[in-house]
Amino acid sequence: MRIFDPHIHMTSRTTDDYERMHAAGIRAVVEPAFWLGQPRTNVGSFLDYFDGLLGWEPYRAAQHGVRHHCALALNPKEANDPRCAGVLDELPRYLLKDSVVAVGEVGYDAMTPEEDRAFEAQLALAREHGLPVLVHTPHRDKVAGTRRTLDVVRGMNPGMVLVDHLNELTVGMVADAGCWMGFSIYPDTKMDPGRMVAILKEWGTERMLVNSAADWGRSDPLKTREVGEAMLAAGFTAADVDRVLWENPVAFYGQSGRLSLDDPAPGADYAGNTILRGTR
Ligand SMILES: [Zn+2]
Repeated sequence: MRIFDPHIHMTSRTTDDYERMHAAGIRAVVEPAFWLGQPRTNVGSFLDYFDGLLGWEPYRAAQHGVRHHCALALNPKEANDPRCAGVLDELPRYLLKDSVVAVGEVGYDAMTPEEDRAFEAQLALAREHGLPVLVHTPHRDKVAGTRRTLDVVRGMNPGMVLVDHLNELTVGMVADAGCWMGFSIYPDTKMDPGRMVAILKEWGTERMLVNSAADWGRSDPLKTREVGEAMLAAGFTAADVDRVLWENPVAFYGQSGRLSLDDPAPGADYAGNTILRGTR
């Protein structure tokens, strides 16, 4: 089984996770920029983080045979902090970088006017740069939040939009809108593999993406593999599994023209990063 996790925060995971992911068949990931738990206090804090997603993290992933790409954005939660707003002026030069395959995560957290402004501005950036967009939907008020999200992205080509963190209540409206549908599988909240299989049975595999959204919270980077196993047990074919866990994310992020899925070179230099301590 070959797996592409289209939404995972590897910055907050260990080297052991990379080893287990590779053993489970995970060969490629997209890491969207997000909130770090501790609020950032200035724009420079974002830029160091973006540089890490462009240099250090792809280097670390390559040591374990995993291709790493990223999506960059001002996340919805920090869009509310005036100290962070200036990152929107820095984003254009970052969106030109080779391993940036989308703008994200954008969208709503608490659905404030500040979030509206950041969301709109970043959709415009995505259009200008010809990049797909990864849209986070709020965990509270999910139905209302998803409906409002779809209103905002209406001006976009729906094929360039992935609406994430969906469930049984929100999948239908996103399917109707023609956007790609993302599902985050967590150990004890939101979607689990059984519920995911039921959704795939009802809605099919087209434009469907499954991710672990693993971060520093309770989460599991092998949840994508569990969904693949559950699909096979429920009678889906290996080709169906490959479509959801590999072909769909490749098709979606491939629209950036920047996916590179050949075997990563462990010794390659990623913006000058090395894991060799004290040797240079
Ligand atoms: Zn996330």
